[in-house]
Amino acid sequence: MLLIISGILFFLILILIAIRFIGRQRPEEEQKSTPIINTSGIYSIVRKSPRDTIQGYKPSEKELSQYLNTQNVDILKNLLTNSDKNLLVSLWKSNLERSINEIEEGDKKGIEFYYYDFEGVDTVCNKYIKKGNYIQRRDIFSNPQIIPPFHIGCKCILKSHTFSVEPDCNRDSLMNPFICNNKIPALPEWTDILKI
Ligand SMILES: [Zn+2]
Repeated sequence: MLLIISGILFFLILILIAIRFIGRQRPEEEQKSTPIINTSGIYSIVRKSPRDTIQGYKPSEKELSQYLNTQNVDILKNLLTNSDKNLLVSLWKSNLERSINEIEEGDKKGIEFYYYDFEGVDTVCNKYIKKGNYIQRRDIFSNPQIIPPFHIGCKCILKSHTFSVEPDCNRDSLMNPFICNNKIPALPEWTDILKI
């Protein structure tokens, strides 16, 4: 009899220990499994300004100047003076800033699309990009290299756009997607110089 009672008591003590153990574990488990709601969603990550990441994809002002110092003509064999070279570096800086600004301003308004426009004839870009080719905001996030300028003396600029019906890759229209089937088309080499 005594053996049975001690057996039951021992069993009860085991259950009590188990309950306390589970009680202690639960909050930690809950903490672990609770999703971190406060971190940014995909939407806000996609809309992160390219200002910080762009340096990894575009040459710096120093690189541009150093390269230009070794070149005397542009791709059309036009002679480049020192003042031409300084102007080309300034144009690069201001056009890159314009692209970034366009995206930052577009993000404030929830813009999803941008298209390429040209301020004059661009004999380097016109082998790669058509005026009106458009890109999506998420493409810019994952591929910052698609932000103009693309080469020294580039006349390509980015403009925000809203579609009522988005064109697709199979339909020819004035505005076609630049990226089809997630494949980034070839882009000009930044070292291709086009005198202003
Ligand atoms: Zn260009």
